[in-house]
Amino acid sequence: MSLPTSNRALVWVGKRKLEVQQRPVVAPGEGEVLVKIMSTGICGSDCHNWESDSVSKQLVLGHESSGIIEQVGKNVTDRFVGQRVAVEPGNACMNCEFCLKGNPNVCANLKYCGMDPTDGTICQYYTCRTSMTVPIPDNVSWEEAGAIQPVAIAVQLSRRAALNVGQTMAIFGCGPLGLLVLAVAKSHGVKKIVMFDIEQSRTEFAEKYGADVGIATPKNTDPSVDSLTFVQNYAKEVISKHELGHGFDVVVEASGADICSQMGVFMLKAGGTMVQAGLGKPLTSVPFFQVTAKELTIKGTVRYTPGCFADAISLISRKLVDLKPLITSTYPLTKGAEAFEAQHARKDIKIIIMNQE
Ligand SMILES: [Zn+2]
Ligand SMILES: [Zn+2]
Repeated sequence: MSLPTSNRALVWVGKRKLEVQQRPVVAPGEGEVLVKIMSTGICGSDCHNWESDSVSKQLVLGHESSGIIEQVGKNVTDRFVGQRVAVEPGNACMNCEFCLKGNPNVCANLKYCGMDPTDGTICQYYTCRTSMTVPIPDNVSWEEAGAIQPVAIAVQLSRRAALNVGQTMAIFGCGPLGLLVLAVAKSHGVKKIVMFDIEQSRTEFAEKYGADVGIATPKNTDPSVDSLTFVQNYAKEVISKHELGHGFDVVVEASGADICSQMGVFMLKAGGTMVQAGLGKPLTSVPFFQVTAKELTIKGTVRYTPGCFADAISLISRKLVDLKPLITSTYPLTKGAEAFEAQHARKDIKIIIMNQE
């Protein structure tokens, strides 16, 4: 079977400098498929590469892609040409102790699309193992399909938080992850969700998108009040004003600001769980006396585990997670550099690249 002749790819060539280059199309080997990539979402971690001056090679960016199976390799029986699929960006070894325990997200030998030095998926054709592709039903548009991966990340977070019917929840950070966690939490029957951000326009959007309350967090402007007292008093005020009893069941920190982790710990009720998803300063202070006194659980979350993509696709397809209001711009691959400028300007919520255009 002859291979497609064009494979335009969006390539990092220097700090804030991208180039559209032709890359070879790789014929699918045994157990592999060649995917014609239709759409790719871009996110903060792509932007991190974009801004870096120390990527080790001319790297193809991107890790949030979906497309159509163009060719199947030898002995592939569970995928077919023309099938719509999402591409899981993690190529885990499936052999290390973490993979064997079902946690390929923390694989000791993980190769991850768009993460230096592994080429990403903002290209026209991508070849991978069949197990890295997850079928998508026809009622999910290509624009939406470009944002399946971040929903899978929110699903993994919901598993880590053990979300359940009737819980109360605080989410710090009204960016794409915070908003998707909101949508996934509502689909789990979480009954009251309060969202925080420093930008009022974002908390207002969160309310429109389904948060019970959106709050623009204040700054401590009184020099006579130390930061611990400020955080403690503010947590008390929120809990009583919004009738949260002894506090939230679950806190999700998706902003990376250490003051949010501190507020989160004070806002949790005894036995509550905080999931730390935001990446902030490498060293921060957390009021651990609260963790001990209230028997809190603090967990991390990273990437996704087996089944998260399928769950994400199901939520989108059944309209339990509505991506449409979040997708604020689309760009053709050939204008990928502009898409990254826009991502950096942070005016959009979610930007999708149409890879064949
Ligand atoms: Zn991402
Ligand atoms: Zn592994």
